[in-house]
Amino acid sequence: MLWNYPYFDHEVCRLHEQIAAFLLEANNEGNNPRSFSTARHCCPELRQRCESAAKLKSKLRAFYNAFVSLTPSARRKVFKAFQDVNAIDAQLANRRQRYALNGLPKAIRAPTKNLFLYLYKDALGAGGVVKAHWETLYETIQRKGCPFCAIEPLHYSGFYKQDYDHLLCKEIYPFAAVNMRNLVPIGRDCNTIFKRSKDILMKNGVRRRAFRPFAPSGVQIKVALTGSRLPTAADKKGRWKVTVTPRRQEVATWIDLFETPKRYKKEVLESNAVDWIGEFRKVAVIAKPADGWSIQRLRAFLGKYAKTFNRADYNERHFLKAPFYDFLHKLDSPDFLKPLLNSL
Ligand SMILES: [Zn+2]
Repeated sequence: MLWNYPYFDHEVCRLHEQIAAFLLEANNEGNNPRSFSTARHCCPELRQRCESAAKLKSKLRAFYNAFVSLTPSARRKVFKAFQDVNAIDAQLANRRQRYALNGLPKAIRAPTKNLFLYLYKDALGAGGVVKAHWETLYETIQRKGCPFCAIEPLHYSGFYKQDYDHLLCKEIYPFAAVNMRNLVPIGRDCNTIFKRSKDILMKNGVRRRAFRPFAPSGVQIKVALTGSRLPTAADKKGRWKVTVTPRRQEVATWIDLFETPKRYKKEVLESNAVDWIGEFRKVAVIAKPADGWSIQRLRAFLGKYAKTFNRADYNERHFLKAPFYDFLHKLDSPDFLKPLLNSL
């Protein structure tokens, strides 16, 4: 992530707490189970939800029955899995054991999936609470762009309820399906084209760390374009080599999930480079010295212009314009500067 969200308490956070309380209750009486009843096993709020949703009640019952029928050690494992999977920040930092659905005891898998996917699909947003959460968050955040790529917008809440991504995807980690520390607004492209159901915690059997969504990472991601080739008359897109630093696990995970360098290359640089050169040209026309530009002066001015863009500024794609103009300056190419000089 290029920046983090603020976390705040909201009505939408209650469902996960109610389910956590239900699981605690079931775990407490696991050795001496009694037949399931919402009065016994659900808090008043969850009981109320069940009264208007027979499906919810039957899925809670199915989960309860499967859970209390497990052996004590299997039950301990499932309960620990629920707690560990929901320690989202610790999971992302690779400081807790990972429990995927297919690693849980077989008898509990289907009831888990049925209950938690139902909770997400039919209970979490009931009464428009997710929409209300987005309205509040949208008004709170200063940057209205997607923090996962910085090149697509987040939408005004009156037009669209932003997609919320399960960082730990709900098919692999259903226990975290309604935990708002795991659910974050995300741009539609990042969500539907790039991240989809990729596993944020593991790739090719190897655990990995990822950025936490609600805490500053302290990592400043930087883009460099060294080794690129500028657009020419014959090749208007140019050949862009996008290098992202620092080299660390969270950044590698971010690149894998959102394919950002490729997107910066294909969807920003290849289509904007010519326009961005044109923008510099306009500024150079205005700033033309009384005795005219020379190659050296123009190059020095390009260096100054590059410095007006900040690599940490995600508005208006400045984080990409900064390395773009810096690359042009450092390239020091007569093939680029001479025709530019002649056009001024
Ligand atoms: Zn995005």
